[in-house]
Amino acid sequence: MAVEEEEDGIHCSSSKRRSHNRKKRKVKKKRAKRLKMLKPSISEGISPLVSKYWHQRYNLFSRYDEGIKMDEEGWFSVTPEDVAIRHAERSGGGTIIDGFAGVGGNAIQFARMSYHVVAIDVDPQKVLMACNNAKIYGVKDYIDFIVGDFFQLAPLLKGDVVFLSPPWGGPSYCKMENFTLDLLKPKDGYSLLQVAQRITPNIIMFLPRNVDLNQVEELSWLSSPPLHFEVEENYVDGYLKGITAYFGDTA
Ligand code: ADP
Repeated sequence: MAVEEEEDGIHCSSSKRRSHNRKKRKVKKKRAKRLKMLKPSISEGISPLVSKYWHQRYNLFSRYDEGIKMDEEGWFSVTPEDVAIRHAERSGGGTIIDGFAGVGGNAIQFARMSYHVVAIDVDPQKVLMACNNAKIYGVKDYIDFIVGDFFQLAPLLKGDVVFLSPPWGGPSYCKMENFTLDLLKPKDGYSLLQVAQRITPNIIMFLPRNVDLNQVEELSWLSSPPLHFEVEENYVDGYLKGITAYFGDTA
């Protein structure tokens, strides 16, 4: 009897445990399903980096679900849509030269304001993606896409505004306390502004949030008399995403 009771007890507690485990499994399954909706898994061919930026997809392109294409670099380097809209609103229009167009986040917003855009990128795959993305936003016809090196093409270009979002050196830029302009790729900020200035003094530069602001201001002194200059912080959902420097008539 004592054994039976004990056995019963064991049976009883193990059946309780089984039902408890079943419940736990159900909760786990539900959680996994919910997470899958929020984040595509690495087993689905999505890299850990893209998975990290996935929840921001509609901040990058509000029409993301309509077939927007981005490569890994694009995920962390494209200008968030609201910031790109702001750049377009402040540009003043005309012909805008986007020197490092990437997957087209800025070029699309300039074009949506019916401005003529010359979108340059050295990577042909990026240009294909930018073209696809511009088609989704219905603005492909406003943009001339060029595969090429901005520094080589600059002497041949004419435009009213130059927009520059040069490579910041990948996501590791944010680990630095002070991002100095020599860290911009493939040439430092001073060389970049000098090249752009030969096209027009109306220049917009989108820079890392930790950029050295004294150095940015110094850029305006490269010209004599110094260029008008203004700097703006760009927030998305309360997070500082970058700094925009406006020169010339855009300031
Ligand atoms: P980040 O370091 O900010 O992530 P990327 O490395 O993605 O920046 O570079 C931004 C874009 O600039 C990319 O699409 C890249 O192909 C393009 N790019 C880099 N160098 C040049 C260049 N010399 N001329 C034009 N486009 C360039």
